[in-house]
Amino acid sequence: MSEATRTVLVTGASRGIGKAIAVGMAKRGYDVAINDIARQKDVLAEVASEIEGLGRKALTVLADVSSKTEVEAMAAEIKAAFGHLDAVVNNAGILIAGEVDGLKEEYWDSVMDVNAKGTFLVVQSVLPMMKAAKYGRIVNIASIGGKHGAPEQAHYSASKAAVMGFTRVLAQEVGVDGITANCVCPGIIMTDMGRVNLDDPAIRKMWQDKTALRRIGDPEDVVGAVAFLASDDAAFVTGQTLNVDGGIVLS
Ligand code: NAP
Repeated sequence: MSEATRTVLVTGASRGIGKAIAVGMAKRGYDVAINDIARQKDVLAEVASEIEGLGRKALTVLADVSSKTEVEAMAAEIKAAFGHLDAVVNNAGILIAGEVDGLKEEYWDSVMDVNAKGTFLVVQSVLPMMKAAKYGRIVNIASIGGKHGAPEQAHYSASKAAVMGFTRVLAQEVGVDGITANCVCPGIIMTDMGRVNLDDPAIRKMWQDKTALRRIGDPEDVVGAVAFLASDDAAFVTGQTLNVDGGIVLS
């Protein structure tokens, strides 16, 4: 398969890390299906223009990743438009802070539904395309929060640990079909989600001091690791989790 015909789906691609990955993959020659939830339609259209400006195809696919019906419709749209899907980057995610003591059940459910179930549903919807091609690259965006975590994020940490466990077993199931599955675990990245903490200068400094490279990450810092795991350079890498955190969790 030539590099020029490569296709990738990136979920949660209207801003932040997802947008950086979508644009970064277009720069690397991929046609990109960009997903986000319906309320981000206009912002997603701007990302599509940016990708088209790079000379690649952009397919806008609106879907809530926690809805099986919407996710299945999204996979059908991608199949109709691209015919095949080489890679998927499960990036859509949410964080609603709250200590375990008073955490509302609905917050637990929402975070698990988008972060963990959403990853499962999207993977399940694209597997038939990848299995038919006997080729696929699945990159799931987990978090160092799923290994380490921080107060007020127990449910978020649980959801990202679930993504990592899911990916390790998935890798064992789909390897026989030429499909790899890996996780990227970003550290502290300056996005709308990251700003929940980072707007406080004291917290920003605390994270900078905890980071070997002494800086907060930018969304673009995550792209290289994702592109590597989606590429043929990573043909023999599967079931792994790669921290992209400037040196916070050292393992
Ligand atoms: P972000 O700026 O909040 O962007 C997330 C995007 O996903 C938003 O456009 C959001 O739309 C969309 N989204 C939310 N729920 C969705 C759903 N059900 N279906 C489809 N799209 C949905 O977040 P980010 O910081 O770029 O994070 C991207 C990923 O990296 C997430 O999985 C996050 O957990 C992970 N991560 C981030 C950091 C960090 O420091 N930023 C660190 C580790 C891991 P709405 O805003 O409309 O909901």
